[in-house]
Amino acid sequence: MFTPEALKGELTEPKQIVVTTHHKPDGDALGSSLAVYHWLKAKGHTVHVIVPSDFPAFLNWLPGRSDIRIYTEDKAANDALIAKAQFIFCLDFNGLGRIHAMEEALRNAEGTKVMIDHHLDPEGFDSYRHWDSEAAATAQLVYDFIANIMDDHQAITPEIATCLYTGIMTDTGSFRFQTTTPLVHRIAADLITLGAKNWEIHEQVYNSFSENRLKFLGFCLLNRLEVLHEYRTALFSISRHDLSRFQITTGDTEGLVNYALSISGMRLAALIVDRTEQVKLSLRSVGNFPCNEVCKKHFNGGGHRNAAGGNSNEPLPKVVAAFKSILPAYKVLLTQ
Ligand code: 5GP
Ligand code: MN
Repeated sequence: MFTPEALKGELTEPKQIVVTTHHKPDGDALGSSLAVYHWLKAKGHTVHVIVPSDFPAFLNWLPGRSDIRIYTEDKAANDALIAKAQFIFCLDFNGLGRIHAMEEALRNAEGTKVMIDHHLDPEGFDSYRHWDSEAAATAQLVYDFIANIMDDHQAITPEIATCLYTGIMTDTGSFRFQTTTPLVHRIAADLITLGAKNWEIHEQVYNSFSENRLKFLGFCLLNRLEVLHEYRTALFSISRHDLSRFQITTGDTEGLVNYALSISGMRLAALIVDRTEQVKLSLRSVGNFPCNEVCKKHFNGGGHRNAAGGNSNEPLPKVVAAFKSILPAYKVLLTQ
């Protein structure tokens, strides 16, 4: 393991660096990656952001977005960049299974892996770690890393502040989840002082729906929501046909699961979507229901207690039935 001083020392000389994050990156994953990218580039390093897959259109405006390389679009060139990188910053994930197509390249890479993350149970692939599962977002930890650990607060430009603010805002559901501590608000306030335009970021992320996406939301609320009062659980199950009917693309189902949780008395919400590759589950809970435990045990996934995800290779009706069959074991926790 590297000490912070050793890492700081290494980064005083120009290095070849790759920055990466998890499959289907969200606002925290991309915001954190681009913040680190801008910070390292300004210090004179050669930096490439390589992500495993495409990402939501509502993140297309992020500063530095056009420099992002999607791994599968030029695998050979990206493999070469990963192989020759002296440092690889791994942001918002802590198990190499989360980077899907890039897993093998990262496993074989000889560069020093710097992990900054807030998910439970790190796998241990890293050589430097800034990890705190209580942090609201990886972007919060990136802020702490740059400002306090690397002692470089003055290097936070308006671009970096914008990327970090986006990560914190999206992972806290606009500063409303339980993870939103006074410290999170203090960091957000500092980022605004440093040039993040909070209202503009909110507009870009939340008020950029396509007409189809809004109609899809209405369709799901009306036709695809099932409320299991007995278990204080509400779920959406969405078929492949539903997705194609509304031309749904990556990111368009983001936030849908929260509507199920907005019904009074609900403790658990699920979104089960039949994507081309796999059936994807997203779970959200309030209180003690362990979404991460259920996703890990039954759906090959993980995450946090109140927000987790997983996937399955079974057909959609089977996955929905499997999810429902788990509920009786948690009845006390869900209803007491
Ligand atoms: P979402 O439901 O929005 O995809 O993800 C919610 C949380 O669960 C995120 O913190 C995410 O990192 C985690 N998560 C989602 N899908 C997976 C998965 O397939 N495996 C693991 N380990 N975590 C996941
Ligand atoms: Mn995150």
